[in-house]
Amino acid sequence: MTGVGSRWRSAALAAAVDRLAAEVDQAWRALLREYGVAEGSEDEAELARLVVADPAGHDWRVVDAALARSACDECGAPSTQGPPTCQLCAFHHGQRFGARETDRPAAPPGNEHASRVAWAVVQAPGRYGSRARAGFELSLPDLLAGHLPSTAQAQAARAQLNRLTPGQCDRVTSFAEVERLAAAAVSPPHPVASAPGGRGHPAG
Ligand SMILES: [Zn+2]
Repeated sequence: MTGVGSRWRSAALAAAVDRLAAEVDQAWRALLREYGVAEGSEDEAELARLVVADPAGHDWRVVDAALARSACDECGAPSTQGPPTCQLCAFHHGQRFGARETDRPAAPPGNEHASRVAWAVVQAPGRYGSRARAGFELSLPDLLAGHLPSTAQAQAARAQLNRLTPGQCDRVTSFAEVERLAAAAVSPPHPVASAPGGRGHPAG
C-alpha cells in the first residue's frame, strides 16, 4: 500500500499501517509461491476466492490479502470494503475474524489477536464508531512493538475515551492526549464502550 500518511491520525499509526500492509502483501506473495500461481493471473483470483471461503485455514494476513483481492459479488468493491449497508461485505468482515492468529515469539499471548483486530478496524473504519476507532488506532503502534495493555489499562483508556466527544476522538493522536482531554472534560462520560483488544468481533 502506498500513499498513506495524511490519512492517518499520527506518524506512528501511518508507520504501523505501512508495516502491516507490507506484511499482508508478503504473506500473499508467499502463498502464491507456495501454489506456483502468478501475480495478476486468473489463478490468483481463484486462489483468493478459495482463501476467502476458508478463513480458518489460513493466517489472518493471508485472509486479509485475499479479501482485498476479491470483488464483492453484491457491491463490486474489494470484499469488506463496500458501503456499511452492503450485507455481503459485512458478512465477510465478520468472517475475517475466523482466520488463524499465531502469537509472535517475542510478544505476549493475545498480542497477535489485538493487532489483527486493530488492523481490521483500520481497514474498515466505516464499520466502527469514533471511540472504537480511536482506541484501536492509538493501540496499533504499541501492539506492533510487542506490547499488550493489561485489562486494567485497557479499561482505564476506555473510560478516558468515553469522556471525549466524538470529534475529539477523531482528532486525538496519542493516549497521553486522551488522558489530558479526559481530565479537562466537564461532561459526564458518554455511554459508549468497545474494548480495545477484546476477544472476537469488536462492536462499533
Ligand atoms: Zn459488498
